[in-house]
Amino acid sequence: MRRIITIHDPDASILRRRSRPAPRVTREIRALIREMLETMYASNGVGLAAPQVGVPLRVIVADIGKGPLVLVNPRIVRRSGEQVGPEGCLSIPGVAGIVKRARRIVVTGQTQNGRKKTLIAEDLLARVILHEVDHLNGVLFIDRVEGGMLYTVEREEKAARPMSASLPLGVMGDDGAV
Ligand SMILES: [Zn+2]
Repeated sequence: MRRIITIHDPDASILRRRSRPAPRVTREIRALIREMLETMYASNGVGLAAPQVGVPLRVIVADIGKGPLVLVNPRIVRRSGEQVGPEGCLSIPGVAGIVKRARRIVVTGQTQNGRKKTLIAEDLLARVILHEVDHLNGVLFIDRVEGGMLYTVEREEKAARPMSASLPLGVMGDDGAV
């Protein structure tokens, strides 16, 4: 488990920095990926970027309910269409906003085994990947919110869980999360 850095934390400046490429997928990076997945699931998120756990490397993980996706050095090579929908962020607890994103993307990167990978993603998965790649460039969803309008999200407290479990989803789906 890693601690998720929020914009309210003293070390929040990492959220605004550009993360550097991972030259190789080392054992350390695989360990980081495992911890990121664990942290994302424990926080009920659907995506997480390495700088959110204090590591300024270009590594993202996601799971929109279809199994874990890992991308090292992700690069968006094509975007098309448009989707407008609610988004939140584990690093910006308590608020959400409407963000316009591409509906379909082609993304390249490497797997946790260092193999090259090309992926076509649509709808929610495209949104999550675009949100996480933004994190690698120091961009937060609040920078992209339509009309700058943020609204408050209330989460049910889960007494048995660590505090992060009560925070909003990494990116919110169409399932009424917001
Ligand atoms: Zn986020």
